Amino acid sequence: MKKWSTWRPENAQEQFDCIIIGSGISGLTTGAILAKLGQKVLILEKHFKIGGWTHTFKRKQYEWDVGIHYIGEVHNSYSTARKLFDFASDGKLEWAKMADNYDRIIFPDKSYDFNAPRQRFIDDLVGHFPGTQEKMEEYISAVDTVVRQGRPYFANKALPEWIAKMTYSTMTEKYFKLANRTTKDVIMSIFNDEKILGVLTGQWGDHGLPPDQSSFAMHAMVVRHYLDGGNYPVGGSRMIAETITDHIEKHGGKTFVNAGVDEILLKKDKAIGVRLENGDEILAPKVVSSAGVVNTYGKLLRSSKHAPTFQKRLRKVVPTGSYLCLYVGFNRSAKDIGLETTNLWIYPDYDHDKNIAEFSADSEKDFPVVYVSFPSAKDPAWDKEHPNSATMEVITMAQFDWYDKWASGYWKKHGDEYEAHKEKLSQRLLEKVFEHVPQAKAHLDYYELSTPLTVRDLANYPQGELYGLEHDPSRFQQRWLKPRSDIKNLFLTGQDILTVGVTSALFSGLVTASAITKKDLRKELL
Ligand SMILES: Cc1cc2nc3c(=O)[nH]c(=O)nc-3n(C[C@H](O)[C@H](O)[C@H](O)COP(=O)(O)OP(=O)(O)OC[C@H]3O[C@@H](n4cnc5c(N)ncnc54)[C@H](O)[C@@H]3O)c2cc1C
Repeated sequence: MKKWSTWRPENAQEQFDCIIIGSGISGLTTGAILAKLGQKVLILEKHFKIGGWTHTFKRKQYEWDVGIHYIGEVHNSYSTARKLFDFASDGKLEWAKMADNYDRIIFPDKSYDFNAPRQRFIDDLVGHFPGTQEKMEEYISAVDTVVRQGRPYFANKALPEWIAKMTYSTMTEKYFKLANRTTKDVIMSIFNDEKILGVLTGQWGDHGLPPDQSSFAMHAMVVRHYLDGGNYPVGGSRMIAETITDHIEKHGGKTFVNAGVDEILLKKDKAIGVRLENGDEILAPKVVSSAGVVNTYGKLLRSSKHAPTFQKRLRKVVPTGSYLCLYVGFNRSAKDIGLETTNLWIYPDYDHDKNIAEFSADSEKDFPVVYVSFPSAKDPAWDKEHPNSATMEVITMAQFDWYDKWASGYWKKHGDEYEAHKEKLSQRLLEKVFEHVPQAKAHLDYYELSTPLTVRDLANYPQGELYGLEHDPSRFQQRWLKPRSDIKNLFLTGQDILTVGVTSALFSGLVTASAITKKDLRKELL
């Protein structure tokens, strides 16, 4: 496991071309590209580990990823996602393909397997819903169409301001025909069947909104991303940050942990550097923030003369809801227990919108989703490093305001009542999971629950946001969600400027580096 350097005041003496706030996949990708192009980059991370949602943590003999369970497309070495991962990691990051059955959507009466490749996905669903062949093809065609039409929409974000403005309507018009509609609207207009809607949107947790609220574009991006199967990084998700930072360091860049940025320094409305939480000031000709738009526009730019405008913009987007994650360790290998690479999505009913509304009103109601992933089963390198052990992660939704009464404390110091509350929830989650993997129960050795407060305290999402900003249709209309800010020399990157997902955040790094260098880096590098 790579050791990370802690920030020290003497580091501020060094000269850098670009400061990057945050070390998630977006910040790392921006850093790797700029470093390879000859710029000296400095990555400042508030957490004590590099990687953002790609970092891992350990307890006893176990190790868990926190924000990556499967990635599509990267098994295909010709895919742009794979090429960009290869570029950023200098070809060092390896991927393991999961079994063809990447997701299992489970309802009380029946379960539905999502199997790769795409034709099998279609055939299997038609098998479940006989007579829907043509409609299923129409649906997949709508998925393909909006994903294809999204390319110019996202490419527009990287263009110089005046060209972006001039070409905006031609580059986005077609995309908005489907992106402006909800997932439910599009799917119901094809099938008019609530049960099919429930099954086809069984991955809604991958972007965070149920079908009556999400943009069909976001739904389609998730579906399409996994149609040919899922993959997992060999050695676990920490290998992403380890390989990319090696690459950055090879080109003279530096990364530091425990280096939270308190404010972006401005002079005559230009970004000139940052002030850290410990008061150190570091100057550089360019600053990139990957800390999310709520942090960047709401806090880091609080002294800007544009602050009121930024606040107004932030009122047009909605931070996503939060979640609970139970990290579980078993004292047998995944093979011994019979754990598979397939993710489970356990639902109380086909109506996801209703499930969420009921749970939001009363947290004692059935969990609206219980998502289960078995990371150790997905990682071919696991058994060698962690013999006779296996891991599982169990996720459900939660609201930040349920934790208001404990919100004044910090990580691990929220008190006994909070711990008792966590224990109760952990037992509820375990009971639900063991209905579906009963053979694992006897080998349970360790569990620990994260809550919205953990996300706030450790990942610095102020409301414990699961995925940054909600992906409803209006989000895609926010033209200010782009790499160029109103402040000269300040750029943004990350899931908020494109969409949620490791691959999307990876691409945001490319888009931001393109905006900084004023080059079409997709063409040039990939
Ligand atoms: C539970 C969960 C499961 C997920 N599963 C998947 C999956 O299976 N597949 C998939 O593709 N995607 C998944 N995602 C989504 C994916 O992980 C994210 O979309 C992506 O990693 C976001 O990357 P990012 O670089 O935009 O942000 P982040 O990874 O959040 O990085 C931002 C970084 O900025 C740092 N930071 C914040 N404020 C400051 C500051 N003031 N100073 C310095 N640093 C700061 C943060 O500490 C963080 O390290 C999941 C996410 C979660 C939460």
